[in-house]
Amino acid sequence: MKFICVGRNYAAHAQELGNAVPAEPLLFIKPDTARLWGDVFHLPAFANQIHFECELVVQVKAPLKNATIEQASQALHTVSLGLDFTARDVQDELKAQGLPWEKAKAFDGSALVSTAALPAKADDHFNFSLHINGTQRQSGDSRLMLTPIPALLAYASRYFTILPEDYVFTGTPAGVGALTAGDVLEGFLDGQLFFKVQVAA
Ligand code: ZN
Repeated sequence: MKFICVGRNYAAHAQELGNAVPAEPLLFIKPDTARLWGDVFHLPAFANQIHFECELVVQVKAPLKNATIEQASQALHTVSLGLDFTARDVQDELKAQGLPWEKAKAFDGSALVSTAALPAKADDHFNFSLHINGTQRQSGDSRLMLTPIPALLAYASRYFTILPEDYVFTGTPAGVGALTAGDVLEGFLDGQLFFKVQVAA
C-alpha cells in the first residue's frame, strides 16, 4: 500500500504559502509506514513545526495505469478524510535546496486516514472541515480543486499504478498551521465527524 499525494490543488492554499499555482499536479508519495494508526499523533523530534493539512482521500475499485479521465471516473470507489502531517520547517529547507520532500512529508505517522468512508461517483462533490480544539481552521469543497478527482487519478496513473489498497490524498485547502502538544483535531466530511486525533509530544 502507498499514499499518492498532490500538493497545491487549491489556489488559496498555494497562495498562503507563497507558492505559484502549478501548471500540472505536483505529486509525491508516502510509503505504507507513514500511516498513523490509532488516534494519537506524536510530534517528531526532528522538526520544529508540524503543520496539519486536512484532505479528501480517494480509493479506487480497480487498478489504474495510464487511465483516461473516463476510466478513472468509473474506478472511483470511496472518499474518506485524512491528514497529511507536514514538517514545514524541514520542507522549507529542502525546497530552498531543491531537494526531495520525503523527510518532510513521508515520515512515520504522517498520514492519517479515517476508518469510515463514503461511496463516491465522479460527479459527486464533498465538503469537509477541520476543527482544532473546537475552532474551525480549514474548510474545503471538492469543487474548488484545481485538478478534479478523476483528472487527478488519470494524471497520477501515468506515473504510478494506483491499486485498490492505495490512498490518494487530493490536496489541502487554505488555513494550514502549526500544531502543539495537546491539540485535538476533528475532521468533518459532509457534516459528520470522521476522525478525532490528539497531538502529543
Ligand atoms: Zn497535503
